[in-house]
Amino acid sequence: MSRPCAFARRTGSLLLALSLTSAGVAAFQLISVRDEVQLGRQAQEELRRQTPEVSDPRVRAYVADLGARLASHASGEAYPYSFSVADYRELNAFALPGGPVWVHRGVLEAADAEAQLAGVLAHEIAHISERHAAQQITKGTVANGLLGLLGAIVGDRGAGAAAAQVAAGVTANSFMLKFSRDDEREADREGVGLLQRAGYDPRGLLEFMQVLARQEGRSPGSVAQFLSTHPAPASRVRELSQLVARAPAGRRTSAAFTDARRRLASLPAARPMPRR
Ligand SMILES: [Zn+2]
Repeated sequence: MSRPCAFARRTGSLLLALSLTSAGVAAFQLISVRDEVQLGRQAQEELRRQTPEVSDPRVRAYVADLGARLASHASGEAYPYSFSVADYRELNAFALPGGPVWVHRGVLEAADAEAQLAGVLAHEIAHISERHAAQQITKGTVANGLLGLLGAIVGDRGAGAAAAQVAAGVTANSFMLKFSRDDEREADREGVGLLQRAGYDPRGLLEFMQVLARQEGRSPGSVAQFLSTHPAPASRVRELSQLVARAPAGRRTSAAFTDARRRLASLPAARPMPRR
């Protein structure tokens, strides 16, 4: 027996609205904040199963604490933000819908100052607070006629293993979303604002882009994943430079950052990320 899921029923009238106002699609979102949080939770469960995390509890607690302090200054909804450190050497960070943020150990090892790590986290927090995932899911779902699939994931918690599998597929394929250039620009802008509100030197994000650009020359493989989902560092460096040109300085680093880096240096080397 099949029945139309609650989500499909709910979105029926929204589809009509979409077809009538195609110019307004970007501003329109098919999934609610609650749906986003649920999708993010499912994606996070799957990622935790697949991803080795840094073993040192102090390093994990440090990143979780830094992230939470930054997120307390985020605009918009009070999402249940969380911060995890993947034990991978490549420079990468990403946000899942509705709260979870991941940063690779490689980012902590490459950053010269806490403000740079804070910049990376602030950019990811901004993707979540600005609801970029909801926008991308809306666009992708509408473009691909996948409303039923989305309904299977978010509309019916009892859908069991089949829905879990669908969610896993979506996690791997679409939830490490490639945001639009506009989304990236907005995340940089909002990230800079967030750094300032949290008392950090907003140049941190700019500096990390410069680290990334240097790393690209030295070891292209270590930044390939990041570059596949983000605009070229050079263009971001240009725009970020203008954004922070007259910004007052703020906190640069901390003893906790230095301690976390020292602890990382004493662990076995980070692993390379498996090719998927
Ligand atoms: Zn981004």
